[in-house]
Amino acid sequence: MASQLINSTISGLNSSSATLTDVFGEVSKYNVQLNIAERLWASWYLWMQNDVLATGLMSFIMHEVVYFGRSAPFMLMDCIPFFKKWKLQNQKIPTWKEQWDCAVLVLISHFTVELPQIWFFHPLATYFGMDFGVPFPPLWKMAMQIAVFFVLEDAWHYWFHRALHIGPLYRNIHKLHHTYSAPFGLAAEYASPIEAMLLGFGIVGIPIVWVSVTGELHLITMYLWIVLRLFQAIDAHSGYDFPWSLRHFMPFWAGADHHDLHHERFIGNYASSFRWWDYCLDTEAGEEASKKRREKKMAEIRAKKAQ
Ligand SMILES: [Zn+2]
Ligand SMILES: [Zn+2]
Repeated sequence: MASQLINSTISGLNSSSATLTDVFGEVSKYNVQLNIAERLWASWYLWMQNDVLATGLMSFIMHEVVYFGRSAPFMLMDCIPFFKKWKLQNQKIPTWKEQWDCAVLVLISHFTVELPQIWFFHPLATYFGMDFGVPFPPLWKMAMQIAVFFVLEDAWHYWFHRALHIGPLYRNIHKLHHTYSAPFGLAAEYASPIEAMLLGFGIVGIPIVWVSVTGELHLITMYLWIVLRLFQAIDAHSGYDFPWSLRHFMPFWAGADHHDLHHERFIGNYASSFRWWDYCLDTEAGEEASKKRREKKMAEIRAKKAQ
């Protein structure tokens, strides 16, 4: 890893007293070929002197910053009447109490369920061949792998989310996530720990399976994928469909209106990022989709009678 490449550059530093800035200065001095992000990355691992701890801490902080940081603008919008025209269920604006209760439960689950598991991630992922050294892989490779993860995770999410709507599974596991029929950004991870692990496997497990098969995956790609998937989940729960939302430019992208309808109707629209599974398997939610299904059924009955 980075330490092999830059070990000589840090040998002059007294590791116990060196600050992160000192390490960054040394790394920069001897590794001019690395870009600033790569130097910061290498410095972090060298400074921490414990790879498992360095990855664990970075993962946890990244998750919290992105989750609450991305939800905050939507919380602000809920207070500004100007944005109401883009709110999908605009008669149901979440109260501060609802958002607070939601944030508390999400935080408790992050600290009690996610944090202990995060320490297993680095040993497990590196065992299966994940790279975390510098330099980073080229952008095209990251983009290609992230696109594959989006497609595979969407399929995983569709089937397991659909299964979670079966009677006992719904009542015992998934009902908690459906507490809010008009969702908001913070509600994206409001779910039972069993659901978080089951659906979370699609996000964390699929890349691990990928690296065990292909032998190619860098931790930075994994992070970028998780950040983008978090943006997707928070956006899908935000309740806001803007004229500039991605689905208007990419018609197969699910977006907020797709998942908002799932929370409002409880049936249909089970996929996470894309619309193709619900479209092809006829599980789209909403008035229009049910009307189409009814018409199709009537046509089938008429055709049978005519025979
Ligand atoms: Zn559901
Ligand atoms: Zn949801």
